[in-house]
Amino acid sequence: MIRCTGVRKAYETGGRRVEAVRGVDLSIETPGFFGIMGRSGSGKSTLLHLLAGLDTPDEGTVEVAGERIDRLDDKSATLFRREKLGIVFQQFNLIPTMTARENVELPGMLAGKEQNWLSSRSSELLDRLGIGERAEHRPEALSGGEQQRVAIARALLFSPQVVLADEPTGALDSGSAEKLWSLLGEVAREQEVTVLMVTHEPAAAAHCETVFIFRDGTIAGEIDVRSASEQGEEGLDAAGIAARSEQLLGKA
Ligand code: ADP
Ligand code: MG
Repeated sequence: MIRCTGVRKAYETGGRRVEAVRGVDLSIETPGFFGIMGRSGSGKSTLLHLLAGLDTPDEGTVEVAGERIDRLDDKSATLFRREKLGIVFQQFNLIPTMTARENVELPGMLAGKEQNWLSSRSSELLDRLGIGERAEHRPEALSGGEQQRVAIARALLFSPQVVLADEPTGALDSGSAEKLWSLLGEVAREQEVTVLMVTHEPAAAAHCETVFIFRDGTIAGEIDVRSASEQGEEGLDAAGIAARSEQLLGKA
């Protein structure tokens, strides 16, 4: 589903070199809800961009949803993102002049899908995400949580094996955020999708199965959230995850 080896990426700005990602090996072979957690500036978004084919690594290999994407040209990368991958960002990136339904259908329209298929698929997804009744509204008439559900529905249009989400609840209040994390977990389980979410919030990570802790551009360790041996039957809660991650970050 997601495999990368020896991935490195540096940026050059104003004569200064920043090594944003410095040697990441990551392998996720099953569907489920996975997290990447780390402090601001630790390189999480850079890694996600590399996994999405939005940028190419300086070194290393990246394989996502069965495709090698570390050397794709722009056109192939665009097609890969549209048809093989779902991506969700903090800013919902919806088209303001289109209804929720049209936003969900847009990647399919660009790909030349038939309107019949698009209509039934968008209805199915909007219903599944609990916003079927909001389908004919434009983004401005929707709450932040509803807008992000539309963005998730759009990400799921082509039934991707992999969905990447970068701080998807960064613009939401905590109640809406909790609901969205639950929803992402359900989507991952029910539709057998590998959802990989970048977050800095332990409360978000508590919804994941495994959380990779990111520090200075590398994976400093991982937390098996659901393992009963970690803490009780239910696994770790937000406080437990915060404590484990501080340990892995070398602060405790
Ligand atoms: P995070 O998502 O964990 O907050 P980022 O991946 O956004 O971290 O950034 C990691 C480092 O790389 C930071 O020092 C950031 O300033 C730098 N960086 C990220 N993107 C760029 C870019 N396009 N150009 C220059 N520097 C960048
Ligand atoms: Mg970021």
